[in-house]
Amino acid sequence: MKLVLAVVDGMKPAMVRRAVETGHAPVMAKVMERGMFVEDCVAAFPSVTPVCATSIATGARQDVHRIPAMNWFWRDERRYVEYGSSMRAARRFGIGQQLTDLIYTMNGQHLAAGAPTIFEVLDDAGLRTAGTTYLTYRGRHEHWPSKATALSRVAATAFKRPVMGPAELFYADIFASRDTGCRSVLGKPGLRDQHAGCVGRYLLEHDLCDFLLLSLPDNDTHSHRFGPDSQVASIAAADRQIERVAQASGDVDAFLDEHALVVVADHSHALIERRIEFEAAFRDFHVLGPSAGAFDEAEIALCPSARSAQIYVLVPEGRDALLPRLVTESLALEGVQHVLYRQDGEGVLRGADGGELRFAPGGEARDDRGGQWSVEGDLTVLDARVEDGRLITPDHPDALGRCWAALACPTSGDLFLSAAPGFEFPDWGGVDHVGGGSHGSLHHSDSLGALLFSGITAPPRQAWGIQDVAPLCTSAFGIDWPG
Ligand SMILES: [Zn+2]
Repeated sequence: MKLVLAVVDGMKPAMVRRAVETGHAPVMAKVMERGMFVEDCVAAFPSVTPVCATSIATGARQDVHRIPAMNWFWRDERRYVEYGSSMRAARRFGIGQQLTDLIYTMNGQHLAAGAPTIFEVLDDAGLRTAGTTYLTYRGRHEHWPSKATALSRVAATAFKRPVMGPAELFYADIFASRDTGCRSVLGKPGLRDQHAGCVGRYLLEHDLCDFLLLSLPDNDTHSHRFGPDSQVASIAAADRQIERVAQASGDVDAFLDEHALVVVADHSHALIERRIEFEAAFRDFHVLGPSAGAFDEAEIALCPSARSAQIYVLVPEGRDALLPRLVTESLALEGVQHVLYRQDGEGVLRGADGGELRFAPGGEARDDRGGQWSVEGDLTVLDARVEDGRLITPDHPDALGRCWAALACPTSGDLFLSAAPGFEFPDWGGVDHVGGGSHGSLHHSDSLGALLFSGITAPPRQAWGIQDVAPLCTSAFGIDWPG
């Protein structure tokens, strides 16, 4: 038994269906025929790639894995972490810092030691693991950076250290556990899928792995630029790379006879029409700027992550006084649909129209994943209802479970903002995706991604989430997910 886990970034279920029906995704069509197509696989909140990719790799949400957002404030080091919202945002924090955080610190320090990755679980079971350029790569095997990497010019000292990864690790042109002849073009958007496909084909052709994480990020870039309705073309391109890998077995049918294949999106995409004037709304506060140094005078840190944002209160003793003011300002901000924070051991969700819902684990209301909640206040905040003890939140899938994971994550901010449909928070570089697609919110439009698999017998379940993917994959090898 061998397994390929293809992660297609931002793949929208309706677009997968359209691509399959119009003959543009022949491999995914075969997977649907032989296996299962889940059209409502729930992302994490914030529904952005660092959080969601890590959930796929660790089988857990951020309350366990601790990667809270695309941009966040690292309390231990008193500075922002920016994984790569845009090139302009990266420049404001320093390209060297951004790349070091993305490539080294995220896996080496931010990712919780107590959250095993799928690579570590399979490495420990003696299976041969492999991965192409994917945010979460931590495994049991040491890799030294390639001598020739162009990035060593950007951050000379950082890119000389080894990392722990899967047995076979290919990460842009920085790590390559062997010479495959495949060129990465420095992880250039639009050209990353072809590198993954080339490497994957080589690994399977030479029988070098039992498990391959094939990362296909170009669909996300395409959808940000041209909008979610344009995804048929980029899903077709992703399908061609999976096909290229499958052809290592001769043809796709032979491949699917011998391999389990899982294709999953980390989150979905929604159309963006307007930006939220996030930074301007907090003009009256001392906001920590992107360049380090002025920490002592700062009151708050602002952390936009596409269709979500966080605010960190930098003076712990000032939290009680600042929080109500921050909540009021946030709710008054055009395009904000929800504000979320923790108070007296409970989660508080406030809606733009004034309603308030308080919740905590362990009550009478049951969600679709079997979670039990005490719920008090205005259910219309989530357009929710309770029927026969069942909490139903169609517009905001698995809302309480996702919100609680965000609040319980020790690296999260004091306040979360979730954007209304059509809106986005610009990043620290001032970049938004108006006219294109984006994601990050609690809303179903960016939260429900596609999941397809064949060659695995899955337990029946009422609701699928991206944190179910790692256990699904290890079950194919007869291995129970730890914990
Ligand atoms: Zn994205």
